[in-house]
Amino acid sequence: MTIQAPIEPLLADPLPRRPTVGVRVGGVQVGGSAPVVVQSMTNTDTADVDSTVAQVAALAKAGSEIVRITVDRDEAAAAVPRIRERLERLGVYVPLVGDFHYIGHKLLADHPACAEALAKYRINPGNVGFKDKKDRQFIEIVETAIRWNKPVRIGVNWGSLDQDLLTRLMDENQALAQPRSARAVTREAIIQSALLSAQLAEETGLSRDKIILSAKVSQVQDLIAVYRDLSRRTDLALHLGLTEAGMGTKGIVASSAAMGILLQEGIGDTIRVSLTPEPGGDRTREVQVAQELLQVMGFRQFIPIVAACPGCGRTTSTVFQELAETIQNDIRRNMPLWRERYPGVEALNVAVMGCIVNGPGESKHADIGISLPGTGETPAAPVFVDGKKTVTLRGPNIAAEFQAMVADYIEARFGTRTAAE
Ligand code: SF4
Repeated sequence: MTIQAPIEPLLADPLPRRPTVGVRVGGVQVGGSAPVVVQSMTNTDTADVDSTVAQVAALAKAGSEIVRITVDRDEAAAAVPRIRERLERLGVYVPLVGDFHYIGHKLLADHPACAEALAKYRINPGNVGFKDKKDRQFIEIVETAIRWNKPVRIGVNWGSLDQDLLTRLMDENQALAQPRSARAVTREAIIQSALLSAQLAEETGLSRDKIILSAKVSQVQDLIAVYRDLSRRTDLALHLGLTEAGMGTKGIVASSAAMGILLQEGIGDTIRVSLTPEPGGDRTREVQVAQELLQVMGFRQFIPIVAACPGCGRTTSTVFQELAETIQNDIRRNMPLWRERYPGVEALNVAVMGCIVNGPGESKHADIGISLPGTGETPAAPVFVDGKKTVTLRGPNIAAEFQAMVADYIEARFGTRTAAE
């Protein structure tokens, strides 16, 4: 049998990040050489200061590095500086982005304290205004951004695509000998809307290091095609997101598939996972998914990873699933404190495995791992620390003892490091 030589460069390697113009959003760098930034958006009424402050604080605590809030009317605009102030009293300094549609130019002009408190303005060129008002109102927002030294995100969304532009491109396409598909023309309209708006912003006087672009669609293949093309045609920083990704696993899978491919190709400076929460569900889930996407792909580290086998017919009980879940929940609950106390702890790998088949091997790859006994095995659980078997746990308290070992390991490895530093 002949084994083919590997294809160079190895297909599994991510492509280098595509160089973009860096943009400062409050205290956060987006693009340039900065790591990919995680963003989220509130779903509270911004005029409801209490609810919005609570949700922004929760999103920031979960790890969102930038939070967008809707600014849709006077009451919301008037609330923004109060929200900013209340957050800072709580010690939450996450940059706030204002999401403006239709009357953003007026809200920003009428509420200068709102314009000042926001770290960035998001403009949707498809509904900034219609007909002759469109460019005028867009320019007014850009002029406000220049006055307050703020960046803008020009965020195109195909649900609210500039209809004049789309119609013009459709008409031009019809006149071609070999017209392209309507879908291809729509993609082109999305890209042109972003690029033409960026050009208008620059002509108005906004510098390139104050512009971020996004071009969101709801279909995975369209998103990949649009961003590949967009990234070839501009070096402005790009915000990635699959719009209307949906609920539950569908939203997570679709967002991860689309953004995973683009990130692998070096495209994207900031991401948002637009999940629809269950009624009363936890909004911070979108932050968790975004972080896990970046972490499993090896781009950033946010939280220790627990590797666990899926279990099978060799699994004797639910002990290993319960242990894996307990350890993961423990880590998530403790992370806000651990981040301060144990610098570097986010790189920790823990393995919780169900039997001898892959248990010892996987546990040796982890910083600390346990291989629980499967069907027919001696009721003993070897524990591996830094690749070496250190102890074998037995009896009814295996789970609690392993949990204590993980805590000791973290203290010994990362606590010592803190003291030394
Ligand atoms: S490690 Fe053992 S229990 Fe877990 S999936 Fe593999 S064979 Fe099954």
